[in-house]
Amino acid sequence: MDSPDVGELTPPNRTLMGPGPSDVHPRVLRAMTTPLVGHLDPSFLDIMDEVQELLRYTFRTDNTWTIPVSGTGSASMEAAYGNLVEPGDTVLVPTNGYFGGRKAEMAERAGGDVVTVDAPWGEPLRPEDVAAAFDEHQPDVFGFVHAETSTGALQPDVPELTAIAHEHDAYVIADVVTSLGGVELRVDEWDIDVAYSAAQKCLSAPPGASPLTLNDRAMNKILDRDQSPRSWYLDLSLLEGYWGDDRSYHHTAPITSVYALREALRLVAEEGIENRWERHRETAGAIKAGVEGMGLELNPEDDYWLPSLNAVRVPAGVTDGEVIDYLLSEYDIEIAGGLGDLSGDIFRIGCMGHSCRPDNVAFLMTAFADALE
Ligand code: PLP
Repeated sequence: MDSPDVGELTPPNRTLMGPGPSDVHPRVLRAMTTPLVGHLDPSFLDIMDEVQELLRYTFRTDNTWTIPVSGTGSASMEAAYGNLVEPGDTVLVPTNGYFGGRKAEMAERAGGDVVTVDAPWGEPLRPEDVAAAFDEHQPDVFGFVHAETSTGALQPDVPELTAIAHEHDAYVIADVVTSLGGVELRVDEWDIDVAYSAAQKCLSAPPGASPLTLNDRAMNKILDRDQSPRSWYLDLSLLEGYWGDDRSYHHTAPITSVYALREALRLVAEEGIENRWERHRETAGAIKAGVEGMGLELNPEDDYWLPSLNAVRVPAGVTDGEVIDYLLSEYDIEIAGGLGDLSGDIFRIGCMGHSCRPDNVAFLMTAFADALE
């Protein structure tokens, strides 16, 4: 067999304004080209402490149990469900977007009995529906999506939802994949037990090391489990050996992804988390005003507009795929179409992290207007 004739890597230079990944800051790219050290090197142990401290700042939590999980957002999600859900637990999940379905599947694989609370795609859960589902099913674990990337809807009323769950002694798992570092999120103040995220959305690092935080109450449930979780790799009681005080080998950390996350989180701390939330509102606000000025509509109502993911209704007579292809081929801009119940109905325009800049928005709006002509 001849050796494969594969040329040097030359990916196109896109502007990433879709549902993620977002553009990576040059400082993050530079951090990724720094020399590798061992995952138990004393210098790396210091980096682990720094990343944990920066993650706590970004999540707005004092949780000891705050780590980057090796893998993409689905890994931190599976670490949450696979550890917290024990066989026979009842798990309440939402049906108002694509990622609720993934929660149901993960909870089932963990041995949970899944029940649902419903809302149409594009709308948030209503607290009264969550309360009714609690009265009916008495779930042990309740998962919801703070920022639903598939629909562009923000879940408001988070403290109300966590209060309902805690009145029933249940645990709350929040999906903050598309909100962490871009949209107001206060893990401790809002009484969230477990929150998981990803690096490639509002943090603007490449996918690979995914933030997860758990309070003591959730961690105690996990450490008291009768049966080990089904995944060895994501077993948090074993990962405690590496990310806890011992710093002993469990698996080889993705060193370069941790460097990238560290630099991305340093950028968050330098900007200030509240300033960053404000920047996302302001900059994405220009997308919202721009599309509305063109006579188009955002899919969610203003009360639950999600700055990091703007869901714009596809106007009559327009085929979403043609616009998306045109933006990519003519302008090197990535946006996306709808999924599931909203397939063909919406454009999904991300405004996350380093992609969330006025020059990007101006470029996108010009290109989008051209594509719709
Ligand atoms: N949850 C939400 C809300 C997401 O948007 C995504 C990814 O887009 C995930 C979970 C899964 O993350 P990943 O694709 O990084 O595995």
